[in-house]
This record gives sequence, structure tokens and C-alpha cells, in this order.
Amino acid sequence: MELKAIIVILLLKNNCQIILASTGIHWSYGDNDGPEKWPELFPNMCAGVKQSPIDIQPFDTVYNKRLTNFGFNDSPEEGTKFIAHNNGHSIQVDTEGKFLLEYGGLHYKYRISQFHFHWGNANEIGSEHTINGTAAPMEMHIVSWNVNKYSSMAEAATKSDGLAVLGILYRVSNSNNQLLEPLVQVIPKLNNNVEIPVVSPSAFLPNSPEKYYRYHGSLTTPRCYESVTWTVFKERQTITESQLNVFRQTLVSHTTKAKPIPHPAEGINGEGLEHLVNNFRPVQPLNGRVIQRSYKV
Ligand SMILES: [Zn+2]
Repeated sequence: MELKAIIVILLLKNNCQIILASTGIHWSYGDNDGPEKWPELFPNMCAGVKQSPIDIQPFDTVYNKRLTNFGFNDSPEEGTKFIAHNNGHSIQVDTEGKFLLEYGGLHYKYRISQFHFHWGNANEIGSEHTINGTAAPMEMHIVSWNVNKYSSMAEAATKSDGLAVLGILYRVSNSNNQLLEPLVQVIPKLNNNVEIPVVSPSAFLPNSPEKYYRYHGSLTTPRCYESVTWTVFKERQTITESQLNVFRQTLVSHTTKAKPIPHPAEGINGEGLEHLVNNFRPVQPLNGRVIQRSYKV
């Protein structure tokens, strides 16, 4: 998942102190500053021992009867908005309005602030979490923060009980996912923010949403804070190959990979641009963590 943080870096070089204020150290999914380099670039966080994503081996999970159904208070009301944008690392939809999540073994109420996606350039890769070592072509993350203890997403994002993220894996199907279609339609226009119709975030859950895996981990993008109570659903949502291909046509700047760039169809040449694909972090070591499951085998 994606989080921007204001940082101040002290660089000591040749006895000369330079203070650099920035909106973030640059990172990407490429070779130079990709996932293999994050532990060096963000040593306090991305080098942690409770990182995400992970490979889930259902046979090794432990049943926990406290992992009940989720409760959603997330009906669209007047004043709620979905704002879609290309953040340079993903297609993200920011939610405005009180979309709340509770129960499901969570000890607090969480407010949904955004959702976004990770995908591959082929159907065999794309998801962050894997099941028995197998990836899905896409994974959606619905990101929420603890409103009982914290006053903002930014405050919650660094706390161990700060965030709850729902992970939904996809599989390729022959019929379009109608719920995703309004977003898919605007992806080529996401050099600007685009408002899309509001729906209940819970509508994105797969069938049998009572069946899920639970563990404690981290944000899967820098700064990799170990602040996430993860839920990964057992069943999958569906998407067609043609809808996936629209995600795969997302363009970002080759040099910065941080700025969303207009779609070529809108009259911009493709120089310096590349398709945003394979925007997933590889699975991280469990380091002794036990993954729980909500259902009896
Ligand atoms: Zn994510």
C-alpha cells in the first residue's frame, strides 16, 4: 500500500552538513530503487522482521474462532466521494466520507481512506500475497485506519494497531467485473484526479467474505511501517483480461516513476514513459509469525 510522508534527511558529506527536505526518498519497482533496495533506502522500516506481503500456506494456518464476520457501515451518503488518481506506483481511489469497518477480530473501529491495486504484466504474477506460492494477476487493498485511538491516517500509519488493510485477490474471468468498470473506464484519463461513482467499499469483497486469513505485518511500500492488521480473503474476485490490460496500460515517467503522465491517446508522445506493471513487492519472511484463519477446514 501507498503512503506519502514528509521526511527530513540529514546528509553528512565531506564534513559539510546538508539538510534536505523532501516529500520522500524516491523508490520504484525497478532495478535501481526497487524492492531489493528498500531495506537499504529505508533501513528502519523496510528491513523489519514483520514485513508484508507474505506467502500464505493454508495448511499451516491456525483456526481462530474470534475471527468473526466484518461489520461495514459504508453506505454512500450525501457528500461522499471517490477520487481516482495515478500516484505513480498504483491506481488509487481516495474515499471521502465515513466508511467504517469493524468486528472481524479487530479490536477497534477503522475508517476506510483509500483503495488501490497491484498487478502484473502477465496473469501468473501481480498480487503481493501469494497462496501456496502462487500469485494472482491482481490484488486490491482497501486501507483503513483506527479511529478509536488516532486522529488521522498519518498518525495511525506508524502505530502497531494503526491500520487494517483488506487484501482481495483476483482471478481472470470471461465476464467483466461491473463494479470495477467505472474505474477501468477512467484509467486512461488519470493524469488528473477523476471522480467516479461511489459504492459501498464492502461490495468489492469476494464471495464468502467470512473466510479469510489474518496476520500482523507492514505496509508493502516504503516506508514499510509495521502497522497493519492484514486480512487476506480466501476466495477471489474476478476481472477480465481486457480490464486487466487497461491497468497494464497505465503510464508513468521512466525517469521519475513518480509522476503520472497523460495517456498517449490524449495526444502525448510516449517518450520517457513506461507502462506501470509488476508493481508488487515480493513475499517477505514470516520470521515465526503464525497466520490465523477464520474458518474450520
Ligand atoms: Zn497495496
